[in-house]
Amino acid sequence: MTTPQRPSQDTPTGSYPHVLEPLDLGFTTLRNRIIMGSMHTGLEDKAKDFDRLAAYFAERARGGVALMVTGGFSPNLVGSLYPGASKLTSSREAARHRQVTDAVHREGGKIALQILHAGRYSFHPFAVSASAIKSPISKFKPRALSERGVRRQIRAYARCGELAREAGYDGVEIMGSEGYFLNQFLAPRTNKREDGWGGTPANRRRLPVEVVRAVRAATGPDFIIIYRLSVADLVEDGQTWEEIVALAHEIEAAGATIINCGVGWHEARVPTIVTSVPRGAFTDLAAALRPEVSIPVVTSNRINMPELAEQVLAEGKADLVSMARPLLADPDWVAKAAEGRADEINTCIACNQACLDHTFQNKTASCLVNPRAVHETTLVLGPTVTRRRVAVVGAGPAGLSAAVTAAQRGHEVELFEASDDLGGQFGIAMRIPGKEEFAETIRYYRRQLDLHDVKVRLGHRAEPQELADFDDVIVATGVEPRIPDIEGVDHPSVLTYAEVVREGRPVGQRVAIIGAGGIGVDVAEFLTTVESPALHLDEWRREWGVGDPEGTRGGIVAPAPEPSPRTVHLLQRKDSKIGKGLGKTTGWVHRAALQAKGVEQLTGVNYERIDDEGLHITFGEERTGARVLAVDTVVLCTGQESVNGLATALADTGPQVHVIGGADVAAELDAKRAIKQGTELAARL
Ligand code: FAD
Ligand code: NAP
Ligand code: SF4
Repeated sequence: MTTPQRPSQDTPTGSYPHVLEPLDLGFTTLRNRIIMGSMHTGLEDKAKDFDRLAAYFAERARGGVALMVTGGFSPNLVGSLYPGASKLTSSREAARHRQVTDAVHREGGKIALQILHAGRYSFHPFAVSASAIKSPISKFKPRALSERGVRRQIRAYARCGELAREAGYDGVEIMGSEGYFLNQFLAPRTNKREDGWGGTPANRRRLPVEVVRAVRAATGPDFIIIYRLSVADLVEDGQTWEEIVALAHEIEAAGATIINCGVGWHEARVPTIVTSVPRGAFTDLAAALRPEVSIPVVTSNRINMPELAEQVLAEGKADLVSMARPLLADPDWVAKAAEGRADEINTCIACNQACLDHTFQNKTASCLVNPRAVHETTLVLGPTVTRRRVAVVGAGPAGLSAAVTAAQRGHEVELFEASDDLGGQFGIAMRIPGKEEFAETIRYYRRQLDLHDVKVRLGHRAEPQELADFDDVIVATGVEPRIPDIEGVDHPSVLTYAEVVREGRPVGQRVAIIGAGGIGVDVAEFLTTVESPALHLDEWRREWGVGDPEGTRGGIVAPAPEPSPRTVHLLQRKDSKIGKGLGKTTGWVHRAALQAKGVEQLTGVNYERIDDEGLHITFGEERTGARVLAVDTVVLCTGQESVNGLATALADTGPQVHVIGGADVAAELDAKRAIKQGTELAARL
C-alpha cells in the first residue's frame, strides 16, 4: 500500500525517469506519462469562449503534458448535464472545436474530448437512465430507457466520437465512472431492468461495452479511446470487484486504447479528492486492475507532485498518471519536473475553492493558488516596462502573491514580515489535520522569492518612515482574531484560535468553541484529532469506511473513526446549519467528520458570560434554555479584524499605497481572494 506522502515543506528534487518515459500506443506515441484529467471549466458551454479555452489548453500543452482530456461534452440533449450544457452533436459544433485542437497541436500536445452522458445526474426534466430511480443530487427523476432508447444512446456516442475526430481531436474519453450514465447501467443500485440490459452482471455490462465497440467502429483503428472505468463505486449496491474486472476485459476486447481508473460516485459519502484524502489513496485499485488487462491503465486522485507520480509508475501500479487540478495550479508541472525544478511547482492543495466549487456555482473555474488558470487571456503577466521599487508589507497569501508576481515581472521588491516565517494565517491553516498540503503553497512562494531576488526581511515589523523612499507600498498586513464583547472574555480559560493552533497553548479535555465559520470548524477538527488521517491511509480508510473492493460490493464498509480525545462543543449565534458557508464540495466532509468525532453543534446561541463554572449560554431571542457548558477552555473563532494602520500612516507621503487581502476587507476573506488581489495588483504595476 502506498504510504501517504507528507507535503514537502522544503525542496523536492530528483529526476523522474518513469514519468518522462514516452508511451507507444501503436499508432501514436504519448511524449510522457502525464495525462490531464477532465475538468469542466465553464468555457465549454458557449462557442464564444472557445478562444479562451484554446489559450487555456495551449498553455498546458506548452508546459509538456502528454495528453489532455476536455471537460465533458454530451453526445445528445437528454444526456446533457443541465440545459445549455456543452454537447457535441453536429458538424457545425465540431468546426468550432478546431481552434482548440489546432492550438494544442501547435504546442506539440494531444487532446481527447470527453463524452459525458449524465443519465440520472442530469439537472433537467428529460433525464434518462437504466431505471427510473432519482439520484440524491438532482431533483429530476429520470425516465427508464426503452430498448430502442438504449440503441439511440449508443448511436449518439458513436456519432459524437466521429465528430470528435472530425474536430481534430486525437481521441475521446468515454466517461463510465463517478456514477454517470454508463455506471448507472453497471450497478444493481441503479439498474433494476429485467431485459437484455439488466438482471445479470453480463447484461448490465452490455451498454458500456457496446458503446466502446460502436465508437471504435465510427472512429477507426488509429484513434485514442480512453474508457473511464469505476474501480470502486463507494456506494451501496455498487459493483463487485469480479464484475469490475470482467468489465475491464470486455472493454479492452471492444477496442479501448487505455483504461482510466475512476473512483466513487458523486453521491458517495466517502471523499475522494478533497485535501484531507491522503495522497495517492486510490493507486492500489489501479494496481489491482493492471495485471488483468494488456492495455495501459491510468491512476488518478490526489497525486500532485512528481515524487509520488514517479513512485506509482516505478512500482508498476499504473502506466500513466492522470492529474487534473494540479495542472490548473501549474501549467508547467511537467516541464518543471523534467528540468529538475520540482521545487518550483505551484502545487494544487486540493481545496476545491476556485475550481470545483466555482463549477457548482456556475462560475468559470480557476485556481486558488493560480488565479491565471482559465483566465490566461485576461490576466497577463508580461515583463514590466518601467522597473519600480516596491515594498510589500506582510507575507501572508496576499503579500506573497503580490511580491512574487511583481518580482517575476521585473520590479525590485522588498518584503517585510513581522513574524519569523512566511505564510501569515496560511501558516496556521497548514497545522489543521487534513490541511497539511497548505504548506506546499508557502514552499512555492519561498522558492519564488529566492529565484527572483526578493529581499525578504523576516521578524521585521515595517514602520512608515522606512517605506517613504519606495515607489509603491503594498500593505498586506492581514487580519487579527476578533475579540467579541462577551462578559468574562478575559477569563484565563479563554484563548484565540491563533493561540491554540499556532502557539500550541495548552487546551483542556472539555472545550467550547465560539464561532462556527471555516476557522471554528477547522479548530474543532484540530482538537478532536490525535494524528492526521491524511497522513495515515489505513486510519483514513477506517474513518470513512473504505473497504477492500475484492471483499465488499461497492468497496464500502461501516466507518470506524478514531474517538476524539476531548469533548468539544461548537457554537454559533445564527440558526442556520453549521458550516453553511463552507464550499459545496468540502462542507459535507467537514460536517461528517465533526459528527463522527461527536462534536456537539449548537446554533441560535446567546453567550451570557464566561466564568469559573464555564460558558453560560441561552438560546433564541427569548434567551431560554439556559445551560452551562462546564468546559476547561473556551476558544474564540469569532472572525477577524483588518490590520491596516500602516495605510493610514502612509497616506499623503511619497509612495503610492495599495491595500490588499485582509488588510483591505476582513469580512469573507479567504486565501482565494487574498492571492487573486495580490496577483492582479502586481499585474498592473
Ligand atoms: P494574513 O494571512 O493575515 O497575513 C498578514 C501578514 O502580515 C502576517 O504574516 C503578519 O505577521 C504580517 N504583518 C502585519 N503587520 C505587519 C507589519 N507592520 N510589518 C510586517 N508584517 C506585518 N483560507 C482559505 O482560502 N481556505 C482555507 O481552507 C483556509 N483555512 C484556514 C484555516 C485557519 C485555521 C485559518 C486561521 C485561516 C484559514 N484560511 C483559509 C484563511 C486564510 O489563511 C486567510 O484568508 C489569508 O491568510 C489572508 O491573507 P492575508 O495575506 O490578507 O493576511
Ligand atoms: P467566519 O466564517 O466569518 O466565521 C466567524 C464566526 O464567528 C461565525 O460563526 C460567526 O457566527 C461568529 N462571530 C462573528 N462575530 C462574532 C461575535 N462578535 N461574537 C460571537 N460570535 C461571532 O470567519 P472565520 O471562521 O474566522 O474564517 C475566516 C475566513 O477564512 C472565512 O471567510 C473563510 O472563508 C476562510 N476559511 C475558509 C475555510 C475553508 O475550508 N474554505 C476554512 C477556514 C477559514 P455567528 O455570527 O452566527 O455567531
Ligand atoms: Fe487545486 Fe484548490 Fe487550485 Fe482547485 S483551487 S486546482 S483544488 S489549488
